Amino acid sequence: MAVAEAVKTYQNLIGGEWKDARNGATLEVYDPGNGELVYRAPNSPVEDAREAVAAAKHTLEVEDWSDNPGKRATALYKLAQALRGSADWLGPLLTREGGKPLSVSRAEISRGAEAIEYYAGLARNLYGRSTMLAPDSLAILLREPVGVVAIIVPWNMALSLLTRPLAPALAAGNSVVIKPSSATPGATAEFVKMIDSIPEFPKGIVNLVVGPGSTTGAELVKNADVDMVNFTGDTSTGKEIMRMAADTLKKVGLELGGKSPNIVFSDADFDRAVRGALNAASMFHAGQVCVAGTRLLVEESIHDKFVDRLAEMANRLRVGYGLNEGVQAGPVINENQLNRVMDYIETGKSEAELRTGGRRLTEGDLEKGFFIAPTIFDRVPVEAKIAQDEIFGPVLAVQTFSDEDEAAEVANSTVYGLAGAVWTNDISRAIRVAKKVKSGMVWINTFGKLYPAGEMGGYKQSGVGRQYGLEGLWEFTEMKHINVQL
Ligand code: NAD
Repeated sequence: MAVAEAVKTYQNLIGGEWKDARNGATLEVYDPGNGELVYRAPNSPVEDAREAVAAAKHTLEVEDWSDNPGKRATALYKLAQALRGSADWLGPLLTREGGKPLSVSRAEISRGAEAIEYYAGLARNLYGRSTMLAPDSLAILLREPVGVVAIIVPWNMALSLLTRPLAPALAAGNSVVIKPSSATPGATAEFVKMIDSIPEFPKGIVNLVVGPGSTTGAELVKNADVDMVNFTGDTSTGKEIMRMAADTLKKVGLELGGKSPNIVFSDADFDRAVRGALNAASMFHAGQVCVAGTRLLVEESIHDKFVDRLAEMANRLRVGYGLNEGVQAGPVINENQLNRVMDYIETGKSEAELRTGGRRLTEGDLEKGFFIAPTIFDRVPVEAKIAQDEIFGPVLAVQTFSDEDEAAEVANSTVYGLAGAVWTNDISRAIRVAKKVKSGMVWINTFGKLYPAGEMGGYKQSGVGRQYGLEGLWEFTEMKHINVQL
């Protein structure tokens, strides 16, 4: 593999000190779009995770962070500003480590900054309640931070999936240990440097440890001094985390996989729905988006025309290196993922009709990266593997229905329940179907928009708990009842 010049080596941040892994081990991160070495990072053993947890616990004991909402609000506002101002240099790094087009990286940064701003405002609003329970009994119901929170992050949206839990965890007065994915720890380390440079964040309130999930990540889940784990990632890992967390009965927040249905009725605005379907499939990030509408459910009467137009548009998408001008869709993250997605595509060829794509792209410079042609399978049976499994690649499965009940039945036919959408000009039908779809988020006549003030999260095997919004803040609090005998 080619090696870029001036390769940086990142470090962990533990108790306010930047450190290498204690055994000196490092890992290398390669650009999935061209194979170049982008940077090195620590490959930390479990002892580093233990030290970070101890630092996070100690800081809460000696600092006034948990009881100082003004300080937390100021710290978070400054962080939001720093992050927003970083798009010009941090955007390209996000693209180089993760492959997504630069416009997507910039949007990720601005979404992260918005979430931090939103929770900065809420840091001073952690109201509980108080009430008389009996003539001589006053209840003070106080919202308190949970304590030490471990935040474990996947690679596909390394910054926005970190800021989404981090901002409310900090706003609520917790301390944090961040464990990014070993595939994309660089932009996270740069972001943590911003935190470290803001004096209102006490040293040790935010710690960073980069290391393998199965050992160092697992230590954070098992450690008795970690009070809560917030995990975003694969459903099977989420199950393992829930099992491991049971021994210490810590709180868990899980944001897991999806196979979201995008339901289009014949009375929908045709052009908007076709564009929406392509956008929903998240081809721009090679389908590596948890909420992606990877199942398109089209009403039978418009099926042929709809799928023809969609396939034509998917074919025209400009797939390429994320930093190149005009590129609309990037590579998958690494060779493993490439092989995994290509295996699904081969399976799909025997289960359904391949409409477009279905192959690795190797023309010219694409050969250096992990590019897959945007792929659409049509007439995909409900029980097909490509209709049931989260592929996490640029692969869309098209299914049909003939009435509302069938649409809902097909929509609910997987173990997932993260998101979904309904396209129709009949508002009553839209709401009826949205209510029937068993998922934490349903869009009507749009797809994929997320706002810091609006909750999201999984039904079924897509997760436990909610992120964003007020519910996303309460997740990081405990309710204490102080009872006063008058
Ligand atoms: P993953 O589950 O393999 O890894 C996620 C993180 O968990 C990484 O930091 C990893 O090192 C760590 N980890 C792995 N095993 C662990 C263990 N035993 N104990 C503790 N930590 C462990 O997921 P991924 O491949 O990085 O990300 C892709 C997955 O994430 C997809 O399934 C996608 O749907 C899901 N995802 C969900 C959301 C959501 O909001 N629901 C958002 C983005 C991605």
